[in-house]
Amino acid sequence: MGLLDALFRSNEILGIAEETLEFAIESSEASHPNEYMGFLRGTEATQLGLEQDGLVITDVLVVPGTEANSVSATVKTSQIPNDVKALGSVHSHPNGVIRPSSADLETFGRGSVHIIIGAPYRQSDWKAFDSQGKRTTLNVIDVDLPESEDFFDFTQADIDEELY
Ligand SMILES: [Zn+2]
Repeated sequence: MGLLDALFRSNEILGIAEETLEFAIESSEASHPNEYMGFLRGTEATQLGLEQDGLVITDVLVVPGTEANSVSATVKTSQIPNDVKALGSVHSHPNGVIRPSSADLETFGRGSVHIIIGAPYRQSDWKAFDSQGKRTTLNVIDVDLPESEDFFDFTQADIDEELY
């Protein structure tokens, strides 16, 4: 990426892909009564065919080593890969109270948007908060996500096949 691209690239978060939000809600339900936790990663909107600058949340990175129980999910920071630039976080409140706890507020400073999903995990059982723990708007965007990164993962054999 060139310097100018870096200067003009907008880091504004336009919203979350509908599919990604649904995945997080389903995962939260599957984890119940334990807490589910992950980090949010984004994709440039233009890569998703949108004619807007900014980022769309498209991935939830579940960190291995998350110690989940019904009270809290603690992430061992040493297990977060260095290359991960998370836009924020998502976690569930199995008790259904969709409000940041004091422990949540301590971790919200990292990242700009934090989603809390609460039992009973219906489509509307989530809220987004900013780094201060205040309610914030997060648009749900209906975009087509690439099936899998494997799609682009050509092997040398594939390339040879194409060439000869
Ligand atoms: Zn919490």
